[in-house]
Amino acid sequence: MKLNNKSSQIFIPSGIKNELALSQTTHLAIAAHQDDIELMALDGVLQCFAKSDKHFTGVVTADGAGSPRNGMYKDYSDNDIKKVRIAEQKKAAVIGEYSALVMLDYPSKEIKNSNNEKIIDDYVEILSATKPEYVYTHNLADKHDTHVAVAVKVIKAIRKLNDSQKPKKVYGCEVWRDLDWVLDSQKILFDTSSHPNISNALVEVFDSQITGGKRYDLAASGRRTAHATYGASHQVDNANSVNYAIDLTPLVYDKTLDIKQYILQYIKAFENDVIGKLNKLV
Ligand SMILES: [Zn+2]
Repeated sequence: MKLNNKSSQIFIPSGIKNELALSQTTHLAIAAHQDDIELMALDGVLQCFAKSDKHFTGVVTADGAGSPRNGMYKDYSDNDIKKVRIAEQKKAAVIGEYSALVMLDYPSKEIKNSNNEKIIDDYVEILSATKPEYVYTHNLADKHDTHVAVAVKVIKAIRKLNDSQKPKKVYGCEVWRDLDWVLDSQKILFDTSSHPNISNALVEVFDSQITGGKRYDLAASGRRTAHATYGASHQVDNANSVNYAIDLTPLVYDKTLDIKQYILQYIKAFENDVIGKLNKLV
C-alpha cells in the first residue's frame, strides 16, 4: 500500500504482516482525529472483537498537533502532544484488537482544503487494500469542520472505486453533535451494549484529552445510555448503550446525488416533523 505522506504509519497490534492485517479487514473506520474512532465506530470494534472471521481497521487522518492540552500536558509542544496522541491511539488499537491502525498524519488545514486530492488518494489506497464490507466515518451534519471534511473526502474516495469494490454500507456517525434529531425512521441504530469494559477502556486511554478537562469517557457512555433510554426503536429494547448513524451508502453508489442536498433531506424531514406536530397544537 502506497501512501502519499512519508510520515504516515501503519500499526499492527497482533504483529502479523501488514498485507494480511489490511486484507482481512471487514469493518473499516475512517476518522479525523485520534479518539474519534473509539467515539463513533464502537459498533465496528465490538462486531469484530475476539472474532476470527471479522476484523476491524481504523484510519486516523489528522496529525493531532492541534490537540487542546491542559493539566500535566499544558506545556507540551505540538510535536510532544502529537507523540502522546499517537501512543494513545496505539493503546486503543491494542485494547480493541484492531487488525490494523493507519495514521495518515495530515495537518487539519490540509484535511479541510477541498482541493486536497492526496488524502482522497490515500483513502482509495486503503479502501483498495482492505475492501471492507462496512465503512464508518463522520456524518455530514457534524459540528466540527475537520470531521465533515473527512466525511466528504471518504464519499469522494469510495465513489472512485468500481461498484464491485465498494462497501455494502457506509455509515455517517456521531461525534461532535449527536444524531438524536434524525427521524427514527431514518436513523441507523447500533447496539453497543456488549463489552462495556472494553468500550470504556477504549476512550479512557486518551489521557491527554481527558486529563485536559474533557470527560469524553463520561460523555461517550452518557450519550450511548441516553440514546438507549430515549430511543423509540423496538429493535433495541434490550440495549443499554446505543450509537446512531445516518446511511451514506446511496451517496457512494450514485455519483449524481448532491452531497449537500442529501443531508438537507434529513434536516427537512426533521423540520417537517417538528412543524407538523406544532401545526396541530398551535
Ligand atoms: Zn475529532
